[in-house]
Amino acid sequence: MDAGAVQVRRSRRVNRPSMQKAIGVDLGGSHVMAAVISDDGKIASRHEQDLDDLAVDPVVNAVENTVGKVLSDTKGKSVLGLGLGSPGNIDPASGTILYSPNFRWKNVALGELLRKRFDLPVFIGNDARCATLGEYTYGIGRGTQHFVLLTLGTGIGGGIVSAGSLLLGNSAGAGELGHHQIKPLGGFICNCGKTGCFEAQASGTGLMRHAFAIAASFPRSNLLAKDAGKLGSKAIRKAAQNGDVHALAAWKNFTEDLAIGLANVIAFVNPELIALGGGVSSAGGYMLDSVRQRVDELTTMVPRGTTRIDIAKLGNDAGAIGAATMVFRGGLTTGARRVKA
Ligand SMILES: [Zn+2]
Repeated sequence: MDAGAVQVRRSRRVNRPSMQKAIGVDLGGSHVMAAVISDDGKIASRHEQDLDDLAVDPVVNAVENTVGKVLSDTKGKSVLGLGLGSPGNIDPASGTILYSPNFRWKNVALGELLRKRFDLPVFIGNDARCATLGEYTYGIGRGTQHFVLLTLGTGIGGGIVSAGSLLLGNSAGAGELGHHQIKPLGGFICNCGKTGCFEAQASGTGLMRHAFAIAASFPRSNLLAKDAGKLGSKAIRKAAQNGDVHALAAWKNFTEDLAIGLANVIAFVNPELIALGGGVSSAGGYMLDSVRQRVDELTTMVPRGTTRIDIAKLGNDAGAIGAATMVFRGGLTTGARRVKA
């Protein structure tokens, strides 16, 4: 390398604004993952730990342990704060978990507990809203103004960005799209107690339930004969892609319900883009081909073709990246009240 090239490199380094970092924590019902994330959305280091006791103290200890490990990876370099996404209804101003069915918690002041343990600003938000913020800021939603993420896993998590702001609603309940009913008569019973919720019909679990619901019509099918451990929505989806008639019929019913929910979401918020994440979305183009045309047919009052449907980009990291994004933005929404350390 000649001297001139060295000169150019040095001047670039001087002009480049220094990268800021934050801790993003994805707290799930079975494990916790903490990561150091830079303000370009990249993960610098991560640590994970399984949760076997969902009482408050062991969970907070597990968060402290994983966060402590990633903080030691930063070798004393400063981080802006700690963001954590958790299932449940959460007051984003205080970080108190008002209700979380996954943990069976009510009114747990998680934000306060973590602020006592770390000398950092702490932001806490619902995990699906955090994932939405992550995909919106650094994933497939980047550059859009009106964006919806739907994560199709064991349930359906969601979040809505409208005119550049994540919608929280009157009490942080906006975006619970998994629990709008699409089949109140004759649908599957949802974990929330209602019948025919979008999540009961069109999540990965929903795909399985469709396969079981029509099993009697396919007496010679081996689809559901697999070991319980191996049978999952992936097995049904792969069998459909391989032409299994039972799986194809289940897939058709599943995508019909998915399309109904997606058309409803378009009617609610007319987003520019709906991104589908979660395990079922690894079907990629196969899934998109199945739903796009049907969604178009079911879209009536909103001008057709104004909402794109695509696959999310950040995968399982969306939650942690979005949790760190809360720190960079000063809260779940732009201009959210800053919580002091
Ligand atoms: Zn429900």
